[in-house]
Amino acid sequence: MTKTLSIAHLYPELLNLYADKGNIQTLVRRCEWRGIPVAVTKVGIHDTLDLSQYDLVLLGGGSDREQELVGRTLREVRKEWKSAVESGLPLLAICGGYQLLGEYYQLPDGRKVPGLEVLDLITVAGTSRLIGNIAIESPEFGTVVGFENHGGRTTHQHAPLGFITKGHGNNGEDKQEGVRYKNVLGTYIHGPLLPKNPRLADFILETALSYAHIDVPLEPLDDSLELKAHEAVLSRRILRQD
Ligand code: GLN
Repeated sequence: MTKTLSIAHLYPELLNLYADKGNIQTLVRRCEWRGIPVAVTKVGIHDTLDLSQYDLVLLGGGSDREQELVGRTLREVRKEWKSAVESGLPLLAICGGYQLLGEYYQLPDGRKVPGLEVLDLITVAGTSRLIGNIAIESPEFGTVVGFENHGGRTTHQHAPLGFITKGHGNNGEDKQEGVRYKNVLGTYIHGPLLPKNPRLADFILETALSYAHIDVPLEPLDDSLELKAHEAVLSRRILRQD
């Protein structure tokens, strides 16, 4: 009997801007279509979080107010997070969740939301929001597409997820988007991210299965619908509308 892949969906009541929970649904369906047992635990802000119970963790996006609430909670357990990340815990962090991986997110009024400090990264809110369809080129995953809407400008010295071909990315200046560090993947790309980027979705699944020591191959799926959605974002019509 194959061991069940255990996924934690953190603070879905707070961090779920732009349907980021669709990333969880994608991961679950791509396991079910392959007959891989998978279980998702929704972890609320007042729940005890034991990272050792999970093979993959998702932190979605949120507005500044929700991020402050989550930042305060995460701050208390940053040592456990640092140890888990350094031990290879697979972590997908989207937008606000991505920002919370760093030292702080400085709000428009100058106050700083403390982060987990698992990455050498800071975010400062700009005077305008970075909004629109986005496409990046990643050396590992090819073209990744989606939507972005954030006021924060993130800078870091880690490897990016990819390089901007359309859109703003981390800060609208250095042409980089997201972050890759060990098994952490952070990005500003909503949409949600994974339904339209099946190659990235399966990479995350492979990483989580390997971390869980679940030795099952990922049989290829018919991704024709997913790739149609992918191409729809990439099509000149949509990108020209920006
Ligand atoms: N509140 C953060 C910002 O505006 C994150 C937004 C988000 O998660 N979409 O930058």
